[in-house]
Amino acid sequence: MYLVYVVSILFRSHREYEHRLDMDEALRRQRDLYEQLSRTDPLTGLANRRHFAGVLERRSAEAQRDRTPLTLLVLDIDHFKRINDEQGHEAGDACLARFAERMRELFVSADAHLARLGGEEFAVLLPGVSAGEAAGIAEAFRRSLAERPLQLREGPISVSVSIGVAGPDVLSASDGADLYRAADRAMYRAKSEGRDRVRVDGA
Ligand code: GH3
Ligand code: MG
Ligand code: MG
Repeated sequence: MYLVYVVSILFRSHREYEHRLDMDEALRRQRDLYEQLSRTDPLTGLANRRHFAGVLERRSAEAQRDRTPLTLLVLDIDHFKRINDEQGHEAGDACLARFAERMRELFVSADAHLARLGGEEFAVLLPGVSAGEAAGIAEAFRRSLAERPLQLREGPISVSVSIGVAGPDVLSASDGADLYRAADRAMYRAKSEGRDRVRVDGA
């Protein structure tokens, strides 16, 4: 009788132990999911601005320490407001999602960090890539967009993009914020010189 009692206690505590393991695992999965969501822009699935800012700071510090190249691209869709005005906000959203897919198709390097900075502004950080090389990659993206419209449910839609490129090799100071300011400046130059083009800071 006593033995039956002991065995039943052991059995129960083992079940409780297993239950606790299941709970731990479920909590861990939930925490991972929340972390993932807090890093991601929900519309495009790319990194959000806040997460990207951290990556940019870390990668800039590494690049400076190791004296390796690092290039930042800032991309802004041209006349995006028109798409919203003419086709509606929903089509605008779909356009942003398709644009992000095209970014994923073209910026395929495992090390490339892609982000949506907000609105219709995006960024690509390319560790180990010089500004000259990155300008070529940016131009390939610009051209692919110019040649092949985005496919929306409403039909194909042509968009163009202005891209600013900056790398520490064309800058004197080079923390993450400087790099962003330089790429943003180059992007605005691309806008003011007619849009649908790539401009490199300092070139
Ligand atoms: P530019 O060529 O100078 O960049 O002109 P633009 O029209 O692209 O730029 P502007 O900054 O004037 O307008 C950006 C528009 O993007 C305005 C805003 O309504 C729209 N927008 C921002 N975020 C979203 C979004 O999440 N979804 C949609 N559909 N539109 C957005
Ligand atoms: Mg724009
Ligand atoms: Mg903009």
